[in-house]
Amino acid sequence: MKMFGGLVRMAAAIALVPALLVQQSFAWGHDGHSMINRLAVQYLPADVPAFLRSRAAQDAMDYYGPQPDQFRNGDPSMYDTMVPDHDINLEDADLAGPLPRRRYEYMKALAAAQAAHPGVNLSPQNVGMLPYVTYEYYVSLLSAMRDYRRELAANRDTTAAEHEVVFLSGVLGHFVGDGSQPLHTTIHYNGWMGDNPNGHSTSTKFHGLVEGDFVHNNVKLADVSPLVEPTKPKVLTDPFADFVTYLRHSHSFVEETYRLEKAGGFAGVGTPQVKAFTNARLAEGAIELRDMIYTAWLRSGDPVAPNKFN
Ligand SMILES: [Zn+2]
Repeated sequence: MKMFGGLVRMAAAIALVPALLVQQSFAWGHDGHSMINRLAVQYLPADVPAFLRSRAAQDAMDYYGPQPDQFRNGDPSMYDTMVPDHDINLEDADLAGPLPRRRYEYMKALAAAQAAHPGVNLSPQNVGMLPYVTYEYYVSLLSAMRDYRRELAANRDTTAAEHEVVFLSGVLGHFVGDGSQPLHTTIHYNGWMGDNPNGHSTSTKFHGLVEGDFVHNNVKLADVSPLVEPTKPKVLTDPFADFVTYLRHSHSFVEETYRLEKAGGFAGVGTPQVKAFTNARLAEGAIELRDMIYTAWLRSGDPVAPNKFN
């Protein structure tokens, strides 16, 4: 009996493996996230402190890039809770009106829209939280940079503050990177859903193929770097709104991703079109992250607005 029970458990565990493997590849894959993170700090302008542009910071950013995907595996029972942070189905989110600026207002808007759209699952878990998680990490980074400035001004050891700034830049980088992947912005995140007049792929291997396997096998840092280097760092006047615009830009490439796949572009070494497409998406991730970090640095020098507790 005991052995039979063991076999049943083992069979159940094996049955779970393919589903977990597919889900775990939902991100730019290890390599894409590392590239986006490294390039973002490598091309920060010289008015950002040297510790954040250093070789050590670039290496740390490279290491931290994929880590939020790992965090979800810290406790398997938390996986479903943490997954929605990594994407947003804009088609669903837009049913609730313009995206509110705060996570709980967004959740309220989704709940209010549910009755009018009974055929769509408008739970935050299903629609996704990416803009909110990203903006909250931006705010955390801004705060950590203020603390670094304070330690520096007081002539205290800034080592811990520097580590905090690099780590938070790395985690922010993961979510910004997810936003440059068109499939992280759509209901068609892993195979085309619903009406399919153009015969797009419905394969549940689609997502992993586009971002994980193809990038790992075919894209190098040196391919993406020349697209980031010549761009001028931008100060974002409204980082939340800018990030939403960036997500909508990524979203505009959803159908193209499917068209390129249908033409066989992601198979093997890929076509030149798919290489250019993938390099451009990764570069846009690095540029957006570079600009968010740069903006956080400049804003961290501003006087702090009081909150309700001070
Ligand atoms: Zn992710």
